[in-house]
Amino acid sequence: MANYKVGVLGATGAVGQKFITLLTGHPWFKVTAVAASARSAGKTYREAANWIESGDIPADIAGLIVQEAKPEFLGEVDFVFSGMDSAVAGDIEMEFAKAGIPVITNARNYRRHENVPLLVPEVNPGHTKLINTQKFSESGNGFIVTNPNCVCVPLVLSLKPLHDAFGLKSIVLTSMQAVSGAGYPGVPSLDIMGNVVPHIGGEEEKIMWEPQKLLGNLTGDKVELASIPIHASAYRVPVLNGHLLSVVADFEKDGITADDAREVYMNWKSPVQHLGLPSSPSNPIRLYDDPRYPQPRLHIHNENGMQVSIGKLREAGTSGIAFTALGHNTVRGAAGGAILNAELLVKEGFI
Ligand code: NAP
Repeated sequence: MANYKVGVLGATGAVGQKFITLLTGHPWFKVTAVAASARSAGKTYREAANWIESGDIPADIAGLIVQEAKPEFLGEVDFVFSGMDSAVAGDIEMEFAKAGIPVITNARNYRRHENVPLLVPEVNPGHTKLINTQKFSESGNGFIVTNPNCVCVPLVLSLKPLHDAFGLKSIVLTSMQAVSGAGYPGVPSLDIMGNVVPHIGGEEEKIMWEPQKLLGNLTGDKVELASIPIHASAYRVPVLNGHLLSVVADFEKDGITADDAREVYMNWKSPVQHLGLPSSPSNPIRLYDDPRYPQPRLHIHNENGMQVSIGKLREAGTSGIAFTALGHNTVRGAAGGAILNAELLVKEGFI
């Protein structure tokens, strides 16, 4: 595989730092440019980033000068990852796409755009074809691909096998979300220590909408949104990393047992597993029988944070299944998910 030169926009933030960490030693991608706000531009990365990852800043990145997030300041890059604040990401990402530079982003701004894939490779890999409908750059090279909200990744990954087998009718879920989900410095310690905050602005709407696109069908050059009633609640809990979900899903098929669901998970194969993508977990889903599992502190690092853990599988009513799901919010739900998306786009020849 050729080596690709990569820029990271929003490189100083919580997700940006996770990009830097995960891309260190990546077999295909090399970070050659880092960008952030005007507050950081002109400083070395070491000076600009308040480093919250464990271990040192990678030596080849620490001395890079942080640039303003403009296409002309990043030198030759094959594409960019974006972990920018959504307050600014919309205009800046479009500027890059217009300049012919593909943008693989975590920000929410283009998730609902009808030409932009909202992508989880194991769930809706075919949606990459939407890229062909984008006309953002004259050269045709610039495009935008998004990954979903960090709750939606464990949610759709855990539901997709059951949806294919039994047909989803409705979903009720409660998400217990880690503080790192709010970025850095994020939630004030006086609000969250020894406490639970039953509100995360805008979150419930995203969790109810994004699965409709992720589980929607691509027909022609459009995604027909699914229309599954979803009711979501979002709570901020005093956990560092890892969003834990309590899910109750109702299905078209009656009388499904926990054993039926277990069998579906055991037999499920990711549609992209055969591609050998470097960040692809060997098992995207892991099922625990111990009812105390999964737990954020114990299981978020499974398969380098790219695996979704499921437990407490049980029957709910006559046609429902209830379970707990866990995903690492800044890895599987953000930077790691975006890197996997980029790997798929390389394999498919979009990059
Ligand atoms: P964060 O820690 O607040 O980082 C925000 C980043 O945006 C910083 O690098 C900041 O640079 C940069 N930025 C701010 N204004 C800018 C500007 N005008 N031009 C260029 N860069 C600018 O936030 P985060 O948690 O990393 O989240 C980043 C994005 O990922 C957000 O859109 C968020 O919604 C999304 N996301 C986050 C998570 C998560 O678990 N945290 C999960 C999924 C998606 P400075 O340091 O210079 O201010």
